[in-house]
Amino acid sequence: MAEFKRPTTQEEFDKNFKLKKPLMNDTEAFYESSRCLFCYDAPCVQACPTSIDIPLFIKQISTKNVEGAAKTIYDANWLGNACGTVCPTDVLCVGSCVYNHQDVKPLQIGRLQNYATKNVINSGKQLYKPGKDNGKKVAIIGSGPAGIACASELRLLGFEVTIYEAKEKPSGLTVYGIAPYKITNEDVLDEVEYLQKQLGFTIKYNSPISNKAQLELLERTHDAIFLGLGIGATAGLNMEGENLENVIGAVEFVEDLRMQHHLIEVPKKVIVLGGGNTAMDAASETARLGAEKVYLAYRRAKEDMGAYSFEYDLAVSAGVEGLFNCSPIEIVGNGTKVTGVKFIRTSTEHGILRPLNNTEFVLECDMVIKATGQAKQKKFTDLISDLELDRKSRIVVDEKNNQTTNPKYFAGGDVINGGAEVVNAVYDGKLAAKGIHQWLTK
Ligand SMILES: Cc1cc2nc3c(=O)[nH]c(=O)nc-3n(C[C@H](O)[C@H](O)[C@H](O)COP(=O)(O)OP(=O)(O)OC[C@H]3O[C@@H](n4cnc5c(N)ncnc54)[C@H](O)[C@@H]3O)c2cc1C
Ligand code: SF4
Repeated sequence: MAEFKRPTTQEEFDKNFKLKKPLMNDTEAFYESSRCLFCYDAPCVQACPTSIDIPLFIKQISTKNVEGAAKTIYDANWLGNACGTVCPTDVLCVGSCVYNHQDVKPLQIGRLQNYATKNVINSGKQLYKPGKDNGKKVAIIGSGPAGIACASELRLLGFEVTIYEAKEKPSGLTVYGIAPYKITNEDVLDEVEYLQKQLGFTIKYNSPISNKAQLELLERTHDAIFLGLGIGATAGLNMEGENLENVIGAVEFVEDLRMQHHLIEVPKKVIVLGGGNTAMDAASETARLGAEKVYLAYRRAKEDMGAYSFEYDLAVSAGVEGLFNCSPIEIVGNGTKVTGVKFIRTSTEHGILRPLNNTEFVLECDMVIKATGQAKQKKFTDLISDLELDRKSRIVVDEKNNQTTNPKYFAGGDVINGGAEVVNAVYDGKLAAKGIHQWLTK
């Protein structure tokens, strides 16, 4: 189990947050690509949400056609470089590699993908140019993976595209959320810049769309609008003590971490509440920031957690201790600051969670990170007329083209799936772009 010293410089931060999937060198990539069996009906392609032609790009790498490999990847997935490192490959492409059935190490598909895409990003090789101007304009709200993918595809099809982004950097949670040991800020921003240079979509930063008048103006001045809003801030727990100092939402904590690196300080004892991937990340990250004790408290059993088991293992290997069947009932403080969390032990019978009488206890801490879910974008979506939401406040779309029930609006990414992966958002953005094209040209 690793123990991390509090990082006080960028160098120390980089050491604690060392990339889990570092870039391959030429020899590694050549060797790894030569192991591919080039399966007919390759299961890895079927497991990839963006259906990248994996055997083809691996063959291209093994025959030293690295630019061709990058083109194969980007033709299917506009964030090929980001996805190579952030995709949960163990449950997607790599998890389906036939070598898994033969006790042979599966092919490192994501890392090969990075090898090819990073090569063209670094060289600035132009692989695409905008399509012939078709005279139509599309506004995109949100420059996350869904918005960037939609913009790139629309530019290929000849649309004029403007993205309105609330924050000061592009790429949404890829730069503001995902753990720094998966991808660096530079890698994320370089890829967006690489696409933007070739395809020429405009991004207006610090430009939140937040009222009906702004939306009506976009409706009047554009032929279609794509909603790539993602999901919102951390949802409240509605629990006593939640407003005490040092009680923070996981999404907000991770955003600070991504922007400030070693300038973030965490106290000695931290409790992270939740059992999803965001909770695993927040726990792992606080441990890597040098907290002496990090508890991950989940109200159900370990096997009921929503997180991937490899994300939990990663948190444990960073020194995090899991507490299961403990449900928080109050956040305890000294009037100003948090001093602990009061839990009650639970049991689960036939899927129903039951608190166990007289089992309350207080666990002391100096900080609580709430990773118990994110609020949806209901306030925003209520501004759009005829926009149907499902009972979980996700925007309802037609699966064929991601068009919403208000035909001028298309949507994709977390705002329609409630929170999945970057690769799903990229797929959605591309599908919506094709849908917009078909709708406006039919
Ligand atoms: C902590 C955390 C860790 C994660 N780790 C991984 C991982 O390891 N691998 C993985 O594949 N996925 C991971 N994910 C999920 C992944 O980041 C998301 O699924 C993906 O980013 C969704 O893309 P999106 O474009 O739908 O939304 P987002 O990435 O959320 O982007 C939405 C964008 O819209 C902007 N926006 C919102 N409202 C407005 C408005 N009104 N006006 C203008 N702009 C607006 C936002 O500022 C943002 O830039 C993680 C998520 C979290 C929270
Ligand atoms: S995009 Fe993700 S799932 Fe698809 S091949 Fe690349 S790493 Fe695997």
